[in-house]
Amino acid sequence: MKELIVISGKGGTGKTSIVASFAALASKKVLADCDVDAADLHLVLNPHIEYREDFSGGKKARILEDACIACNRCIEECRFDAIHYPQTDDGAEAEVPNINQIHCEGCGVCHRVCPADAIAFEPAVNGEWYVSTTNYGPMVHARLGMAEGNSGKLVTLVRKEARQIAEREALDYIIVDGSPGIGCPVIASITGADLVLVVTEPTLSGKHDLMRVSQLASHFRIPTLVCINKWDINPQISDDIEREARENGMKVAGKVRYDTAITKAQVMRTSVVEYTGGAVSEDIKTLWRNVVYALG
Ligand code: SF4
Ligand code: SF4
Repeated sequence: MKELIVISGKGGTGKTSIVASFAALASKKVLADCDVDAADLHLVLNPHIEYREDFSGGKKARILEDACIACNRCIEECRFDAIHYPQTDDGAEAEVPNINQIHCEGCGVCHRVCPADAIAFEPAVNGEWYVSTTNYGPMVHARLGMAEGNSGKLVTLVRKEARQIAEREALDYIIVDGSPGIGCPVIASITGADLVLVVTEPTLSGKHDLMRVSQLASHFRIPTLVCINKWDINPQISDDIEREARENGMKVAGKVRYDTAITKAQVMRTSVVEYTGGAVSEDIKTLWRNVVYALG
């Protein structure tokens, strides 16, 4: 079984369209959407949720108003400035402080120092994750709550569940729609993978992002391929990207031309290779063949 992670330097490069087409082309696979901050693979694959579970990425503190003696010890000790006296409706200061749940980092210090045992410190529900069936095979995906951190932990969980399904059902591929960027979620997306495919566009920022992402992948010693999406909107920069990729030890596995069929397929909630048999579809099929070859 091989695990492929498809990532991009930033969002909106067409990564998910490529993954959806791979979902249609690959045999015996499980799909995992690890772009948990902006999950949209489900928009194309129309999953039917079979199992759901709350995700808790850590603990959060909460003041028990009735027990609080307003000693301010927690306010003095919170390094994240998350505890304040709120204003009441008539503009006065409340009698006891409260904790801003967005600013609270869950370090637990306030809970430990409170002399009145007035701070509850409990697992916080940060999101939900799902195992679904789709027309393309099983899929693991997730939803993270607004302004929630810990997406790295959720990504790790989604990948782990997908791997378990692949093992249980003796599947050949785990195809992961990874997180964009170079932060914690993308590191959680790629560590231990068999192959990374970076989807980029022929723009100066795309070129720059590609190099940042590829440095990350090479740091973790993961073989990396490149896909230039909409290569023909700027052939000159596409050539530059191809050369730079080569100089950095990466092969361009495919170049996908610009085609309005990609957007139309999205609107129709289907993959590009199913929507059209045109040249863009052939580009993606060639890309997939090269990816399979690299996976071995
Ligand atoms: S758990 Fe830590 S970050 Fe959260 S309110 Fe308490 S001291 Fe501040
Ligand atoms: S340390 Fe405990 S008792 Fe003191 S203000 Fe904070 S919650 Fe209230």
